[in-house]
Amino acid sequence: MAAPLQTLGDLRRSGYKSRPVKQEIRDNLVRKLQAGEPLFPGIIGFDDTVVPQLVNAILSRHNFILLGLRGQAKSRILRGLTDLLDERIPVVPGCEIHDDPLRPLCAACRARVAAEGDDMPIAWLTPDGRYVEKLATPDVTIADMVGDIDPIKAAQAGINLSDELTMHYGLLPRANRGIFAINELPDLAGKIQVGLFNILQEGDVQIKGYPIRLKLDVMLVFTANPEDYTARGKIITPLKDRIGSEIRTHYPVTRHNAIAITRQEAWTDRANGQALVIPDYVREVVEEVAFQARADRKIDKRSGVSQRLPITTLELVVSNAERRALSNNESVVVPRVTDIYAALPSITGKFELEYEGELRGAEQVARDLIRSAAGTVFTGIFDGVDTRTVVEWFDLGGTLPLADNTSANDLVATTAEVQGLRELAAHAGGKPGSDPAVLASAIDFVLEGLYAQKKISRNEERGYTAAETSARRPTRREEQTINEEVRIPTGKKKYYN
Ligand SMILES: [Zn+2]
Repeated sequence: MAAPLQTLGDLRRSGYKSRPVKQEIRDNLVRKLQAGEPLFPGIIGFDDTVVPQLVNAILSRHNFILLGLRGQAKSRILRGLTDLLDERIPVVPGCEIHDDPLRPLCAACRARVAAEGDDMPIAWLTPDGRYVEKLATPDVTIADMVGDIDPIKAAQAGINLSDELTMHYGLLPRANRGIFAINELPDLAGKIQVGLFNILQEGDVQIKGYPIRLKLDVMLVFTANPEDYTARGKIITPLKDRIGSEIRTHYPVTRHNAIAITRQEAWTDRANGQALVIPDYVREVVEEVAFQARADRKIDKRSGVSQRLPITTLELVVSNAERRALSNNESVVVPRVTDIYAALPSITGKFELEYEGELRGAEQVARDLIRSAAGTVFTGIFDGVDTRTVVEWFDLGGTLPLADNTSANDLVATTAEVQGLRELAAHAGGKPGSDPAVLASAIDFVLEGLYAQKKISRNEERGYTAAETSARRPTRREEQTINEEVRIPTGKKKYYN
């Protein structure tokens, strides 16, 4: 489109034709499909599952609902729909419901067009102004959603209350000619659902006994937790009937996709003069924590485990490594697997516990998950690699007192005497000649992996010692560690990928 037109006369002469919003979105989708353009940029891992269903719903001009657990990119998908709106559309300037200058709905705009004719100036609205989002809660009222009669306006105008001049518009009318997204639809009271349905179906609604007529043009999209949505009586039937497509979202299916999402979303680019290197195994363990949490019977499956868990975890992992590097004056920041324990404040808030989990406590459940995740990733990478030399060093009485804040140089020096450890670290990517921080992280991964496999043990101060299965009598603290019920997968690549 050339420079935007200025007046209603210009618009009329240009032959501009406005379309219903669902037609507009469909047209733009068709164009993108023909051009082979990416459809939902930033949405990862849904190409073969969610995206085709979304495309079909849009081609069918449906209102639709995304059914999924928390942290499955539902809101992101809905916001991404604005990419399918026209670059700009003409509106009557100042109209709260974005009236079409060629076909205004509200009395004020109709009066204005009649009075000013072709000289009436027009304004242009961009996609951002055409997306309205609301989180449904039980206390949302019809006034919030549809609007309210404004008695002051009514008195001033001296007109009949049922005239829409006296309306104070709610969210739905403000989404006119755009997209209205309601998150967690089942939380909306039945009465409000009825109001929503009426305005969509008939274009009218009763407010405080007054019939209000509004022929709105809105694409309605929703999200809901699948169990809430299908529970009997949560959604009124006529509204459910109006939702053309139900589309199920899901968590990333592969660790590879999960890493890609977290890479996109997590804030790791801190740019304070230090170089950041995040080893692949750290990324993998972080994702594996979420995968295992989703499968853990101690964690509530109905509420799910959001992809925000690995995202915020990785941010804290990087921060912990950053903190250590800053206090040790190191220029290269390399997170370690043990840094994931510093992310407990993020992890424990990202899941709801079942009774069994409550008994164990959120923090211990999270610790178990990290240890188990480290074991799974370690077992995958070290499949077929002989680790006995290192384990024997501990069995012969060797101990390694290492702490969260141990500098890279200290860690590398302290572990130098452990036979075979360097070779294993090299297998994890800590090649000879790497930066000490890279090497330290690889060594840490090997130790945490052996600890997860229960081949060596570690006390709370993170000193590594022989496993309790050796003849030595365990100390009380070590006893505590050995009693932790950690599931360590020993099979090959049982999980994902
Ligand atoms: Zn208007």
